[in-house]
Amino acid sequence: MNFQEYPTDALMYITNRPEIVFTRGKGAWLYDNNDKRYLDFIQGWAVNSLGHCDDGMIAASDRQSRLLINPSPAYYNEPMARLASKLTALSAFDKVFFANSGAEANEGAIKLARKWGQKNKNGAFEIITFDHSFHGRTLATMSASGKPGWDTIFAPQVPGFPKADLNDIASVEKLITPRTVAVMLEPIQGEGGVLPATREFMQALRELTRRHNLLLIVDEVQTGCARTGEMFAYQLSGIEPDIMTLGKGIGGGYPLAALLATEAASVFVAGDQGGTYNGNPVMTAIGLEVVSRLSAPDFLAGVRERSAYLSQALLKLSADYDFQGERGEGLLRALLLGRDIGPQIVEQARLLEPAGLLINAARPNLLRFMPALNVTTDEIDQMIALLRQAIDQAV
Ligand SMILES: *Cc1c(COP(=O)(O)O)cnc(C)c1O
Repeated sequence: MNFQEYPTDALMYITNRPEIVFTRGKGAWLYDNNDKRYLDFIQGWAVNSLGHCDDGMIAASDRQSRLLINPSPAYYNEPMARLASKLTALSAFDKVFFANSGAEANEGAIKLARKWGQKNKNGAFEIITFDHSFHGRTLATMSASGKPGWDTIFAPQVPGFPKADLNDIASVEKLITPRTVAVMLEPIQGEGGVLPATREFMQALRELTRRHNLLLIVDEVQTGCARTGEMFAYQLSGIEPDIMTLGKGIGGGYPLAALLATEAASVFVAGDQGGTYNGNPVMTAIGLEVVSRLSAPDFLAGVRERSAYLSQALLKLSADYDFQGERGEGLLRALLLGRDIGPQIVEQARLLEPAGLLINAARPNLLRFMPALNVTTDEIDQMIALLRQAIDQAV
């Protein structure tokens, strides 16, 4: 079908989109309305951990949909309990609250920290966050985010989120006052350009927050669920935070997110937190399938192998084109271009014939790669070949 035949005019304008409609996907490939195929290294924004339309996820969704779709959040269901106990077994946390998006999970983390501050710290409510961070698009999570311009678009902001500089412990310490209740960060700033917090910084933050009796919150919406080659990115630095949020990869493409906390930080009382779809059995059954596959023996080792392969390939390409190398952890990586040519390369990559390539420029001077975690080395080779063509056409 022609693009013009789709009734896209009825959609509220929020961003510029190319004039194509995606109609199906399988594994690493997406197909558009003209049946042109695209090698997908965006995967729903680091969401489809097992690629497009995974058979195990389809079976889990089908099985649960025939049994029970929604008993209401006021009652227990089996998949929610099983997924929660799986997540606590895999992590440093004791309690789980399920949500439908990363932003909603982060809202929950902010509420939990403020509640903990009322109970334990004389009503302290300020949460120190970081410049260039991204925590979501609700009012509070936009206020927590350090994206340039976000402080004014929907002013006034939600108060209580002073900003420090990533990897600068003195900048955090300077902001601590009697009103401070927590520090919240992404272990790797994803939208900010795949900028990792260093191991030393994470350890110093844990020490600083313990010393001042503050909660440490990690937003692992992008970095969690095997993306970095560890089940959770905080494990890369050998620390244990008090609160963690998950989203994106946990649902493998379905809307599922989670707020996890230690026993001591789990201070909600009846009525504090909830939501109509939270913990519904279909989403949690799919999440259970995804997390079970990601935590199967050898899966993480495979992610690390493919990560090393992608990293080497990007370094070689960088040397050939005189770019500035690459960075990242696991299968969340960025190629540093040294010039603001990212958007042109992204455009040319999508337009390649007969097969296009989907990648993202998180910042104009870099390209971000977030393939499915089960991507093959052959698909990585194909991606690099397409990327070379796109760069040649863009510059
Ligand atoms: C994507 C993202 C969010 C927001 O998740 P949504 O599901 O889009 O609400 C929050 N934090 C981080 C680190 C993210 O990458």
